Amino acid sequence: MRKLNITVWDETQGPMGVYPKGVYQAIADFLEDSNEFGKIRTATQPQPEHGLSQDLLDDTDVLVWWAHIHHSTVDDAIVERVWRRVMDGMGLILLHSAHGAKIFTKLVGTPTDVLRWRESGELERVWTIDRSHPITAGLPEYFDIPVSEMYGEHFGIPTPDELLFISWHEGGEVFRSGCTFKRGHGKIFFFAPGHETYPIYYMPEVKQIIINGIKWAAPLPLTPITHGHSPDSPQAKHNKLDKSS
Ligand code: ZN
Repeated sequence: MRKLNITVWDETQGPMGVYPKGVYQAIADFLEDSNEFGKIRTATQPQPEHGLSQDLLDDTDVLVWWAHIHHSTVDDAIVERVWRRVMDGMGLILLHSAHGAKIFTKLVGTPTDVLRWRESGELERVWTIDRSHPITAGLPEYFDIPVSEMYGEHFGIPTPDELLFISWHEGGEVFRSGCTFKRGHGKIFFFAPGHETYPIYYMPEVKQIIINGIKWAAPLPLTPITHGHSPDSPQAKHNKLDKSS
């Protein structure tokens, strides 16, 4: 079977927090190390067309989107281009502050930037809710992120198709930290942990979740569909009678 081509997108080019080569490169590196995928490419917002040319998107099976605060400066034409590819079946993994990305809001139709947050380095306990889902395969009942940014409810998403993880934070808040949506032919997975000043993308559990998420979101081959009535449908027979009378 052909290996999946992955593109990892980041709003920043270069070092970020505890990631000397950038968050996008840290993610691309562990995807590369897994030997599970085909081409692994990166794209960043400062590049022309935000690095997301039509040719690159057409050759991308799953797009991983990490963003922080520059959502409003993402060009609407590029958002539209990504949206169309998701409608056609490209998978989309939205990480951490990508909750506020224009593409997320456009896909699910609600103010996804609404949530409670606090950057105070608290413990986050990530509970696996759906233990039979491909994205939670190999994950324990729960795991702890010793130092994390708090994201709490209420989170402005619509009811997700599947709720896979719920996080509990030391300050008492809870958050729907891992959930899926399907839009058009595309599968979308949002996963919250991953603040740039904490080494969260170096954690084996987090790497496993993202790798599982990419595999789950992979497009399936679509058989062509024909619009209109099949030759032996009652409607088609009726039309034929009409014409012969
Ligand atoms: Zn953050």
